[in-house]
Amino acid sequence: MLDPTTRDIKYLPGVGEQRATLLNRELNIYSLYDLLYYFPYRYVDRSRLFRVDEIDGRMPHIQLCGEIRSFEEMGEGAGRRLVAHFTDGTGFVDLVWFRGLKFVKNRYKLGKKYIVFGKPTIFNGRANIAHPDIDDAEALQLSEMGLQPYYNTTERMKRSGLNSQAMAKLTSNLLTMLPLNMDETLSPSIVQKYKLMSLGEALRVIHFPSNIDELRRAEYRLKFEELFYIQLGILNYSKDRKQKYAGYNFSKVGDIFNEFYTKNLPFELTGAQKRVVREIRRDVGRNVQMNRLVQGDVGSGKTLVALLAMLLAKDNDYQACMMAPTEILAEQHFSTLRRMLSGLPVRVELLTGSTKQKDRGPLLAALASGEIDIIVSTHAVLEDNVNFARLGLVVIDEQHRFGVVQRAKMWTKSRIPPHVLVMTATPIPRTLAMTLYGDLDVSIIDELPPGRKPINTQHVFRDRISGVYSFIEKQLREGRQAYVVYPLITESEKIDLKNLEEGYATLCNVFCDYKIGKLHGKMKPKEKEHEMQRFASGETQILVSTTVIEVGVDVPNSTIMVIENAERFGLSQLHQLRGRVGRGGNQSYCILVTDYKLSDDTRKRMEIMTSSNDGFEIAEADLKLRGPGDIEGTQQSGIAFDLKIANITRDEQLLQFVREVARAIVDDDPDCCKEENRVLWRRLTEIKKRSNRNWGAIS
Ligand code: ADP
Ligand code: MG
Repeated sequence: MLDPTTRDIKYLPGVGEQRATLLNRELNIYSLYDLLYYFPYRYVDRSRLFRVDEIDGRMPHIQLCGEIRSFEEMGEGAGRRLVAHFTDGTGFVDLVWFRGLKFVKNRYKLGKKYIVFGKPTIFNGRANIAHPDIDDAEALQLSEMGLQPYYNTTERMKRSGLNSQAMAKLTSNLLTMLPLNMDETLSPSIVQKYKLMSLGEALRVIHFPSNIDELRRAEYRLKFEELFYIQLGILNYSKDRKQKYAGYNFSKVGDIFNEFYTKNLPFELTGAQKRVVREIRRDVGRNVQMNRLVQGDVGSGKTLVALLAMLLAKDNDYQACMMAPTEILAEQHFSTLRRMLSGLPVRVELLTGSTKQKDRGPLLAALASGEIDIIVSTHAVLEDNVNFARLGLVVIDEQHRFGVVQRAKMWTKSRIPPHVLVMTATPIPRTLAMTLYGDLDVSIIDELPPGRKPINTQHVFRDRISGVYSFIEKQLREGRQAYVVYPLITESEKIDLKNLEEGYATLCNVFCDYKIGKLHGKMKPKEKEHEMQRFASGETQILVSTTVIEVGVDVPNSTIMVIENAERFGLSQLHQLRGRVGRGGNQSYCILVTDYKLSDDTRKRMEIMTSSNDGFEIAEADLKLRGPGDIEGTQQSGIAFDLKIANITRDEQLLQFVREVARAIVDDDPDCCKEENRVLWRRLTEIKKRSNRNWGAIS
């Protein structure tokens, strides 16, 4: 029988070698299966035609039937465009192209009947449609069309005649070749229980629906399946892992933990910190490897939680390693830990790329012999010559900067995998975390230490900067400190550095009574550390910097964060930067400086920032604005979900629902042997084989 999963697309009637190459190259379509799952991105109700004289500026995409009377080329340079004067007898509308002018002009004939599709806008009282879809009216039989599928195709494909219509034709050819009752990919009980459309029907309907109702049911079925298998895979995998990896048992809560807790701890833990520490203690005390993600908004006190976990390791005679994404942060953690642990018999050391060669030897030896209890490090700890005597716990701070590979590497430094505690302040939205890290246990620190005042955030335009300066001055006079941050994005590094230098010079002029430090990524680690030290100790009052201070830096006396060119930062990054202030008891301020002219998107970002201090809320908003593919960290998380129909944001409810369905199955059939689930396990194996997702590598 025909197996669409492996059968090469070139054998489909209407394809052949040449088109196959195009489909491979442009859309990643190699097999019949790939084509079958290349879904339309839009449907047009082809039974409805609008008249030109009905058009107003608020219409969605509409369909018109008429002819082109004349072409006209207009404008110069970037404004160059081709305008086709189109009419259906009730009025004229301008069809406009900014690209492919020659191609368009040759392609469409004057006086021939066309169906034009697009979103009309009114400009200077004239209706126009930019880059419309155009079909030959004779080739379309409107009354029979119902909902017509539209497929995304590339310019190159269109030039070879592989436009949306041609794709629809190929798909229809394919569907006639497939048996009506295609093998069901969900178990009969699931199909029945949730009243799902059969797979065969859903695939037909998704390409050629006859009405909206039917289409919605087909979409539901396919989304259900897509999300279900992701969750089934994750849950099944995490169950495997719990069985497979034994973990070190930190059974004792010993002297050092207790002494620190009662004597050294400078403040009472928040309720949320206590809860998370309890969760960690439970994890590390039952012979199973811990993989826990601690999410806590900036300033929620994650470092302390990590420290307590590391003391548990020490009390059980294990070493701990704390990894930070940057040297600045590693140095800062190092000095925080040293300070907090002073007087206790815990040896803490620092190992980074700039550790001197002559110090390295003894340091590595002490690590390998077990004399060092806690090592604070960066990527430097991953090198092959770094060995531990008994590595029991790895803490990874600001997880999104570390790749999966690096994490896996730490496992090789221990006889059995060490416990892993991942801490992130870029709060990955709950939905996304659940999808990405379904196999990680998640703890949330949802409470800030007492006495924190919400940061007051303002958006100002650059022409008001002098007001900002006098405000800074007032704060400095009260003994506070300020950050002024400039963007640094690699493509325009030179310009950015110039901006920073100019900003620095201006500030030096304005604030001539104060000391100003400067920090950027091009400086040597030693210089950076020096500048950071000067600011932390209060020697400098203003720190002009690029985003190198984005993560983790902690100077509680600093109450002002000015972000220049705020339009160039994403929401999560803005929130991270803002988190550098508001860390002490004083009211803090974040000032977002932008140009006057802003895109809608930027305006929204500024609104969100000025109205919310909640990292979760901001991350969710970010997800909605940008889509999950763009969220910082998902790229490096090592698991990119190639969703064909479901959408993590829009289909959040369905995602949670199918997760429960999947969980019930994994719980009920942990050995994957029940007859009724056979189709599910087989399908899961196929999916894993086909995708290059490395389930085992998730954290
Ligand atoms: P983050 O979660 O962003 O890593 P930190 O661990 O850097 O936060 O903590 C932020 C600040 O809050 C630090 O100065 C820390 O000493 C302080 N802090 C942490 N926990 C508490 C607490 N329970 N009460 C008061 N201050 C705390
Ligand atoms: Mg931190």
